[in-house]
Amino acid sequence: MLERIDTIHAHEILDSRGNPTLQVTVLLKNGTRGVAAVPSGASTGSHEALELRDGDKHRYRGLGVLKAVKHVNGPIAKALTGRDVFGLQAIDDTMRVLDGTDNKRKLGANAILGVSLACAHAGAKRAKMPLYAYLRDVYNLNYKGYKLPVPLLNVFNGGRHADTNLDMQEFIIVPVGFKTFSRQLQAGSEIFHALGDVLRADGLDTDVGNEGGYAPDVGRTEQALEYLLKAVNKAGYKPRKDIRFGIDVAASEFFDARTGKYILKTDRRKLSGSEMIALYEQWTKKYPMLSIEDGLSEDEWTDWQTLTRRLGSDLLLIGDDLFVTNKERVQKGLDLGVANAVLIKVNQIGTLSETMETILLAQKHRYKIVISHRSGETTDTTIADLAVAVNAEYIKSGAPSRSERLCKYNRLLEIEEELGS
Ligand code: PGA
Ligand code: ZN
Repeated sequence: MLERIDTIHAHEILDSRGNPTLQVTVLLKNGTRGVAAVPSGASTGSHEALELRDGDKHRYRGLGVLKAVKHVNGPIAKALTGRDVFGLQAIDDTMRVLDGTDNKRKLGANAILGVSLACAHAGAKRAKMPLYAYLRDVYNLNYKGYKLPVPLLNVFNGGRHADTNLDMQEFIIVPVGFKTFSRQLQAGSEIFHALGDVLRADGLDTDVGNEGGYAPDVGRTEQALEYLLKAVNKAGYKPRKDIRFGIDVAASEFFDARTGKYILKTDRRKLSGSEMIALYEQWTKKYPMLSIEDGLSEDEWTDWQTLTRRLGSDLLLIGDDLFVTNKERVQKGLDLGVANAVLIKVNQIGTLSETMETILLAQKHRYKIVISHRSGETTDTTIADLAVAVNAEYIKSGAPSRSERLCKYNRLLEIEEELGS
C-alpha cells in the first residue's frame, strides 16, 4: 500500500506551562489527517537535540516557535509533499539530511519531531490501525504479544518543576503489586489523594507543580520519602509489596562542575559524587526504592560506573540527561557499564525513527525502557502508544492529576480494554 502526503502544516499552540510549542497536521491525498503536538522540557540535558525558539523578547518572552513553524511549512513541507506516508524511516531520514547538523539546530528538533509524529498518526489512521500496532508494523518489530507499561507516578514535584526549596526533582510511586494497568492507576490515584490528606494535616501546601504532583516546601529532602510512606499506608497499601518508590534526582541541575559537588540547598549540604552514592545506598536500605533516575550529573561517567557497580543489581538506574535518547550515548553507557535503564523522550532526539533505534539498542542489551513525557506537555498521547508498541517496562507521565498528564494514562486504559488484558 502507498499513500501520498498532500500537505503538511504547522502552527503555534501553547503547552501546559503556557509556553509556545508546535502542532503539526499532515493531510494525505485521500483526505486522512494526522495531528501531533510537541512537548518541551525544563530540566533539559545539555546533550539534547536543539529546541528552536525565536528569541524575540517582545513575543512570549523569547519563547515563540514561529521560526520552527516556518521551517515546517517551508522547506520540510516542500521536501515531503508527495512522499509515501508509510515510509516513516525515509521521511525522518529526509528531514535529518535537510537539517544536516548533529543536533538538528538548523531546522529545530521541535519542527522535525512534530512532522515525524504527525506522519505516524496519519499513517496509522490511513492503515486503520491503532498507533501502537501500526508502529510495530512500520518498524518491523517482532515482540511476543503486548505488555502494558507500569506507571511511574511523580506525586511530589521539586527542582525545576516547582517553586519550592526541594532540589531533587521527582518523588515517584510505582504500583508494582498489581496485575493490570487499570488497577495500578487506581492505587496510584488513591495514594496521591492520601498524600494530599497527610500533607494538609501537617499544614503543608497542596497546590501542584508542573507535573501534577504536590509541591510543598520541606525541612529535609528525605521528608518527601517519609510522606510517601505515610500516604501509601494511609491508602491501605503495603510499601514494597504493593508500592515501590522512585526518584528523579535530575542531579545535573544542582551539580557544580567547578567544585565537583552537588549542592543540596534543602539540606544545607554539599555532597561529592561518592557521598551522593552513599546517600542512595542509605535510602535503598530505609525505603522500598525501585529506581533512581539521573542520580549523578550528565557527564560524570566514572561516578556513574561506581553507582552502577554499587546499586545496579538492586535498583533501576535510569539515564535521562545522561543518555538523552541518543544511541551514541547509550552505546557509551553500554561500553562503560553505566546504568541499566534508559529514559526515552522523543523530543530529546527529534524523530520517531531515531527514538526507535535507541530503544532497540537498549533492549538488545537488556536495559529497561522508560517512555517519558516532558514537564511541558500537551494533550498529545503518542507516548502511550509508543510504550505499548515496544513493550516498554515503564511509562512516566507525571502524577495522576492534570489532563495533560492523565491523557497518556487514560489512553493506556483504552488500549488495555482494546487488548482485553
Ligand atoms: P523535563 O523533566 O521534561 O523538565 O526535562 C522531566 C525529567 O527530567 O524526567
Ligand atoms: Zn529526568
